[in-house]
Formats: sequence, C-alpha cells, structure tokens
Amino acid sequence: MRDTFDGPAGPPSEAADSAHAGAAASPARERATPASRSEREAAPTANGFPADARTGGAGVLSEEVWGRAVELVRQADEIALACHVSPDGDALGSMLAMARILTGMGKRVVASFGDRQFGVPGLLHFLPFQELLSSPADFPAAPELMITFDSSTLERLGLLAASAGQAREVIVIDHHPSNTGFGTISLIDPGVAATAVLTEELIYRLGGSLSKDVATCLYVGLVTDTGSFRHSSTTPEAHEMAARLVATGLRPDVLARELWDRSPFGYLAVLSAALGRAVLEREGLGMVWTYITRGDRAAQGLPYSEVEGVIDVVRRTDEAEVTVVLKEDDEGAWQVSTRSKGAVDVAKICSALGGGGHAGAAGFTSHEPVDVTMARFRDVLRMS
Ligand code: AMP
Ligand code: MN
Ligand code: MN
Repeated sequence: MRDTFDGPAGPPSEAADSAHAGAAASPARERATPASRSEREAAPTANGFPADARTGGAGVLSEEVWGRAVELVRQADEIALACHVSPDGDALGSMLAMARILTGMGKRVVASFGDRQFGVPGLLHFLPFQELLSSPADFPAAPELMITFDSSTLERLGLLAASAGQAREVIVIDHHPSNTGFGTISLIDPGVAATAVLTEELIYRLGGSLSKDVATCLYVGLVTDTGSFRHSSTTPEAHEMAARLVATGLRPDVLARELWDRSPFGYLAVLSAALGRAVLEREGLGMVWTYITRGDRAAQGLPYSEVEGVIDVVRRTDEAEVTVVLKEDDEGAWQVSTRSKGAVDVAKICSALGGGGHAGAAGFTSHEPVDVTMARFRDVLRMS
C-alpha cells in the first residue's frame, strides 16, 4: 500500500482550486501528504474561509483522542470490526472501507454485524469488499481491539454486543448525538453527516489510500445519511468529502441507481398497499403513518431491506410534520421508522420508546401490534 493518502493533499494555493481532490484521478497532481489533516484544512478556501469551519462538529475530537485511536490500530495484529444490526449504507460502507484499509496494513481483520439472520441487505449487494465479512458466529468473544461503526448503543450491535463488553479496547466511531459512549475511545462527533466522515479521517490519519473501491464504500455512507445531500447534515464539508471521493473515479450515477432507483416489480405492489392505507392525522403539527406487514412482502417475495425506502415517499406529505412507517420484519417484530421536518425531535420520542437516532430521522423496535404501537407513539409525541 502507498503511504500517502490519495485525497485532499493540495497545498494552500491548490486548496483554492476545487480540483484539490484530484490526486487519485490525476497522479501528476500528487504531492507529499501534509503533516496533519488539520494543517490542510486550515488552508484558506476560494472564498477565504477556513475549510474546517464545520457546522456543529468543530473541534469536538481532540488530537489526543485521534492519536490514541491511531496508536491502538497501529499496534494491533488482529482487529475486530462491527457495525449496527440491519446495517445501512453508512454502517456497512464505513466498516468495509476500514476492513480493506486494515488488511492492506497487514492486520488480521474480522468484520461482521450481529443479526440473527446474517446477510448483507439486498440494497447493498453491490458494495465492494464483502469477501472480508464473516458470520457473527466467527466473531472473537473477547477481542484485543474492536472498532464499532455507526452504532449508538451496545444493544444496536445485536449478537456482537457481548464481544464489545469483553473487548480490551473498543474504538467507537459514530455520529449519533444519543451515543452512550460505550467504548474505551470515542471517535464520536454528532456534527458530522455520517460515520463515513470520521472513518475517512481515521483512514487518512493511518496513512491509508483512497482507492476507488474504498471511496465507493465511504461515498455510499455519505450519500445515504445525507439523503443525497438533502438533509440538514449537508455541510460544505460533506460536499468537499464527496468531491474527494468522486475524484477517485467512482460513478455517482451508477451508485444512485443501485441505492434508490431500482427494485423488483413486486415492490410496486407493496408500495401501493402501504400508500393505500396511509393515514393523515391533522391534530397538532400533523402526522402521516402507514405500515407494511411481512405478509405484504411475502406475497411479492420481497426481503425486508427492499421496503426501507417507502418512508421517503410517505414523508412528502405537506400536511404532516411527522412521518411514521412500521415495517414488520421476518421475525414478526415491528421496526418503526420515523422522520420529522425540523419542528419535532423524533430521536427524543424514539428514545423514550426504547430506540434512538437523529432529530430528523429515528427509529425503535416494537413487539406490540400496530395500533398499540401507534397509541404509544402518539402519547409520547403529544408530551414532546
Ligand atoms: P431508519 O428509519 O431505519 O432509516 O433509521 C433512522 C435512524 O434511526 C438511524 O439513524 C438509526 O440509527 C436510528 N434507528 C432506527 N431504528 C433504531 C432502533 N431500533 N434503535 C435505535 N436506533 C434506531
Ligand atoms: Mn446507520
Ligand atoms: Mn450514520
């Protein structure tokens, strides 16, 4: 592996040039990696502002904590990686990118997630480096060093929570404000758009290189968690990161189609059923909700992961501040997804119901029927 980072390595004069991310695409532009990323980011941008003027996340993580994380990784021979159950693009993309970087550094890597029915969600089948994944059954019970991705609590690690409890060191990489700080080192910054942002930083600090495939994994994390650069987490830094990643030659159009613009024909029937039974409750700020049973999916042969996008249609509703979509999983539990447009903090509501998430996008699991679950949700919403 090269010991320079094929990314944002431009000197100040080049930093004013949007092509500063072009090292991988145009090797002629490469130069020595700056001593630290903060040195690079201190360079003025085209409009004279420092590039590290992050919204929300500025300076949350000290050099010391980054240094300790880098040291632990450098010293370890074997590293166990885990992301949250039913992984999304941010969780799995971040973990696979890091898995590749670590194997490139000569580390033995075990990477997994703790779902009882282990399998990469269909939507993410195109991600590179899946050969680096192992079943949770093969995960070490007491790893020397474990790194977790996008998991806000120990419980979100599912079957792998026990290993995190027994590990000597646990580096937690996450951006959920609700993170409980369950590790020994917290690389947690609620001000960044995605866990992939912090993962890119760690890769940079480890001297890893951003190949097209590593960039693809990180890009999938970034675009899924910003909703294609539509959510409030879409900062200048998020776009700057996207520029670095796209400069490696990855295809945003191909990835966007994989993520959002394709599904089996049967999805149309399930979507239609879900939309057909949507309810608008006009009290207060307004709420729209619907549900999808496992029977709906079974009739069309659809796996659970195929219905994750339904909420993106339902939440368009102008009359509703809050959107709720209940999805029955293969075990009969209801995975409840919630969204708000900004006036309501759904993470608070979902936390009160045993889940968590972000102010605008959160979730919880319910073992009660739909009507009971919605009655509980309404009660907490009214009190918020
Ligand atoms: P989703 O609706 O599945 O896209 O999830 C939206 C957000 O809610 C994500 O940031 C998740 O981390 C969080 N979330 C979803 N389900 C749960 C859960 N059962 N427990 C804790 N957090 C959750
Ligand atoms: Mn996630
Ligand atoms: Mn995330």
